[in-house]
Amino acid sequence: MTLSEYLSKSLNTIKRANWYRQEKTITGLSGAIIELEGEKLVNFASNDYLGLASDKRLMEASIEAIYQYGTGSTGSRLLSGHRKLHEDLEGSIARWKNTEKALVFSSGYSANIGVISALMNQKDLILADEYNHSSLKNGAKLSQSKVIEYSHNNCVNLTHKLAKNRSDYRHCLIITDSVFSMDGDLCPLPELIDIANKYDCWLLIDEAHATGVMGKTGAGCMEHFGVKNDNIIQIGTLSKAIGSLGGYVAGSAVLIDFLRNRCPTWIYTTALSPADTAAGLKGIEIITTDTTLRSNLWQNIALFKQELTSLNMSFLPSESAILCLKSKNAESALNTSLKLRERGFFVPAIRPPTVPTSRLRFSLMASHKPEHFATLKQHLGYDKNLSEP
Ligand SMILES: *Cc1c(COP(=O)(O)O)cnc(C)c1O
Repeated sequence: MTLSEYLSKSLNTIKRANWYRQEKTITGLSGAIIELEGEKLVNFASNDYLGLASDKRLMEASIEAIYQYGTGSTGSRLLSGHRKLHEDLEGSIARWKNTEKALVFSSGYSANIGVISALMNQKDLILADEYNHSSLKNGAKLSQSKVIEYSHNNCVNLTHKLAKNRSDYRHCLIITDSVFSMDGDLCPLPELIDIANKYDCWLLIDEAHATGVMGKTGAGCMEHFGVKNDNIIQIGTLSKAIGSLGGYVAGSAVLIDFLRNRCPTWIYTTALSPADTAAGLKGIEIITTDTTLRSNLWQNIALFKQELTSLNMSFLPSESAILCLKSKNAESALNTSLKLRERGFFVPAIRPPTVPTSRLRFSLMASHKPEHFATLKQHLGYDKNLSEP
């Protein structure tokens, strides 16, 4: 079989299953209202929870950094890529996350892949929540450790698997999303910390959708649950609520020092660009000094739940800004998404292989308006086909 034949055959299989996906072009600034392929839509597809990606203050910080340092950072951090901006950003992340140190990466994805594979090897064991993000799964694979998945958020199942396997391996790392990206629920963090202590495991949590959203200062689920633990490896992204681009790791000084010397996705890649670094720094400054955006977001989450649960539809349990409406199958998720789009709403259908069961995923923003939820409710309630579980 030629390469092209193989690729076409695979694509046809994907299309037959209604799993085929394509990018869609947004013109202009992103926000709660966007212009998508010429249509004005209410945007329920953005990770920009606080609207900072189109905030003037971040744009100005980026532009200033470009004039000061140029567009590219010209090299890796250990060679010619390091600027004072990187240090400032890492200091600000560490203070916010209440850790000794932090390290920034080109993306959250590369942070996860690099950190997990730098810490673990063939002699080690990784226990991973079955619903973990792709970057955690691939980081675990790359490490060549034994990887065992436990049932989603199921501490009994996790404990059972540890009791059975832990003693056969040297080190053990438990890895989990803190806010599950395609479900919206939270990991049972206090219980996971207890289990990690009991079975001599390390713990890595991915705060991608928690950072800027959860906790009193938006520091994430660590803050939400009120746990302080220097041994926990906290990973996150600058690309969601913070409104920039890039990833980070926060933890003990010795962890960061080790990663600076052993983590390939930090060592062998070009440093984060001046513009992204400056926007990240400004985003964190705004999040940590002004609580209005986060309190608007949480008001919207409450309002959305109040409006839409009255329709008696099947939402997945959520404690975050991500709310998912169950669909029968991929086809029905796609149809509902298309119908909603005709009615002025951008709501993505999330299908396998991203998730085991298809769903419509709404992510809320601080800048959504009550009328956005009210009209959404009308459309969902009006057409029963739209809301069929
Ligand atoms: C988005 C996401 C990432 C990747 O972060 P990027 O900065 O976009 O690469 C990692 N983990 C989770 C849970 C995510 O949702």
